[in-house]
Amino acid sequence: MMLVLKNEHLNEILKRAEESPVEICGLLFGKKKDTDAFVEEIRFIKNRLNSPYAFEMEPLEMIRAIDEAEERGLEVVGIFHSHLCKPIPSEGDRKGMENWPVIWLIVDNEGNYGAFMLERGSIKEVKIQTV
Ligand SMILES: [Zn+2]
Repeated sequence: MMLVLKNEHLNEILKRAEESPVEICGLLFGKKKDTDAFVEEIRFIKNRLNSPYAFEMEPLEMIRAIDEAEERGLEVVGIFHSHLCKPIPSEGDRKGMENWPVIWLIVDNEGNYGAFMLERGSIKEVKIQTV
């Protein structure tokens, strides 16, 4: 399992995370091939909790983004958000991963990042390939 991500997209997410006093979040759109996910577009979605410790994507903005991407033949292959601490899943993230079993890209505000997915109840790290 691998997350294939464009450098420019990763850099944009890292830059926003670095600049933001609250968690940033959004969607990774693209295509799945076997177990690998290829990201073609990213969309930042407002964190309606406006919190440095948690995030919740603004639902209407999120639904609109998904609809628009689906019209272009893209699906949600992952979601991303930032931490102001280590980029590893929190307890809240774990619950979120149960509800939304896609790849979770987590970045911090210092340029570190990781990708995770819940597999049969345990969190697995997903390899990231930047292109
Ligand atoms: Zn988190």
